[in-house]
Amino acid sequence: MIRFGPAGLGSAKDAISNLEVYSKRGLKACEISFTYGVYLKEDDALEIGKKARELDIKLSIHAPYYINLNSADKKKIEASKKRILDCCEIGELLGAEIVVFHAGFYGKIDRETSYQNIKEAVIEILEEIRKNRWKIKIAAETMGKINVFGSVDEILKLVEETGCFFCVDFAHLWARNQGKISYGEIYPSFKKFERLHCHFSGIDFGEKGEKNHKLTPELEIKKLLSVLPKNKEITLINESPDPAGDSVKSLKIWKELV
Ligand SMILES: [Zn+2]
Repeated sequence: MIRFGPAGLGSAKDAISNLEVYSKRGLKACEISFTYGVYLKEDDALEIGKKARELDIKLSIHAPYYINLNSADKKKIEASKKRILDCCEIGELLGAEIVVFHAGFYGKIDRETSYQNIKEAVIEILEEIRKNRWKIKIAAETMGKINVFGSVDEILKLVEETGCFFCVDFAHLWARNQGKISYGEIYPSFKKFERLHCHFSGIDFGEKGEKNHKLTPELEIKKLLSVLPKNKEITLINESPDPAGDSVKSLKIWKELV
């Protein structure tokens, strides 16, 4: 089954009513965007988690954008690890399954060293998660800009060597490859996994890859949904400027396909 849902839950005050609206529209997933930091208090998280379970909406979290596990400055790596762990902590209270994060920038560091730096940081985060006995998974996202860590190969290697989880952003990968790769060519790389957490939206790109997200064209939704399997647990989070509207549109198209 595919669970469709938006990126964004809204403020603590509106969260419960937003979940109810999503549920009425047939949505079964929601990714809470902690773009600028964790904005929910513990009590809110418990209440939101309870409501989401009642409505059978799977919650995930998007960690803050200001994360660089490959910084030349050790303090910035530590701060980045803490931002991800703060998301894990509140995520446990929410009953969220996954914290998605952008691993880092290459900067002036070569690709292999960047990989090793990120791997080391991810292993340290996973150790903290284990120590705390948290169930939540951290998911490294495939990225749309060419100067950012997160090609298919890099993410797969990281998953294999650390045991972290992953988020496949089909729009990002299409933009990273200048539109020269189809969703049908991306999916096989992730075929062996039982469970997929995915992002999607319309996207503009240039020479350096992703420029900005835009509304999701119906044709692109159809192309993506026609390559996704029908017998797998898949969550598809829409990140367009109208993420709930585009999720509903995707759900409708999916129903016509199955
Ligand atoms: Zn992301």
